[in-house]
Amino acid sequence: MDLLQANRANAVTETTVAKWLKAAKSVAVLTGAGISAESGIPTFRGPGGVWKTYRAEELATPQGFARDSKLVWEWYDWRRSVIAEAQPNAGHLALAEIERRVPGFTLVTQNVDGLHDRAGSRNILRVHGDIWTVRCTVCDRERRDLRPRIESLPPFCSCGAMERPGVVWFGEGLPEDVWERAVVATKAADLFFVIGTSAVVHPAAGLVHLAKASGAKVVEINVDKTPVSATVDISWRASAAEALPALLVDRGL
Ligand code: NAD
Repeated sequence: MDLLQANRANAVTETTVAKWLKAAKSVAVLTGAGISAESGIPTFRGPGGVWKTYRAEELATPQGFARDSKLVWEWYDWRRSVIAEAQPNAGHLALAEIERRVPGFTLVTQNVDGLHDRAGSRNILRVHGDIWTVRCTVCDRERRDLRPRIESLPPFCSCGAMERPGVVWFGEGLPEDVWERAVVATKAADLFFVIGTSAVVHPAAGLVHLAKASGAKVVEINVDKTPVSATVDISWRASAAEALPALLVDRGL
């Protein structure tokens, strides 16, 4: 495909998705690390996915934390400092605007960075938790901790036990109530977006198949092909910060 053909194909995709969005009564969105990449927050599998010599899969696990909790906390502390410096990008902002325009809207995010909240999204289901929350490893008490850097690592709960980041690690279950609400929203959606996720982390990626099986039109926005690209109705090869604002342009549809 030459450049002219590619531009035409992109314009057709944009118009089709914008039409679907205009007609939609209920929209559900699944986002992953890719939507925050343009805010400068590294994804797990892209460039910057390795910290010191460790891969995310070694650190974001209960086993990694049991092996060396201080190391895992140092990684989270570094991530918190990167996120604290970051700003929501045009993709996050466009999703918040779409929520204001559509009658029913649910944002299911695998991200823990809080950028959707800061962009103004309201109905957010954080299926992998929140990096700004810490939880006691013994009494389960949760608290918000917004310090970009925690001076003394690991932090301790008032009960005396060690705290852990309030996120879901690989191999752990998702918060049940949050997950159930994500399933309900997915089944109810007539339009489902899957944005900036490699769609390999389950069960979150399963929502894409559920949306399709429930009769929604499914649109993927990703700079690369993923395992769900062949399942969706439209796989839009584009960056989230470019594609999402383009859907809000008034085309007189
Ligand atoms: P991932 O790193 O596995 O995949 C990122 C995906 O985003 C890739 O498919 C990539 O092609 C795509 N992508 C990169 N830049 C993009 C852009 N500008 N626009 C659109 N797509 C883009 O991330 P994942 O699928 O979210 O899964 C990894 C897990 O990592 C999740 O559970 C999540 O909790 C966690 N995580 C969160 C953050 C965050 O909160 N920002 C960051 C890294 C990882």
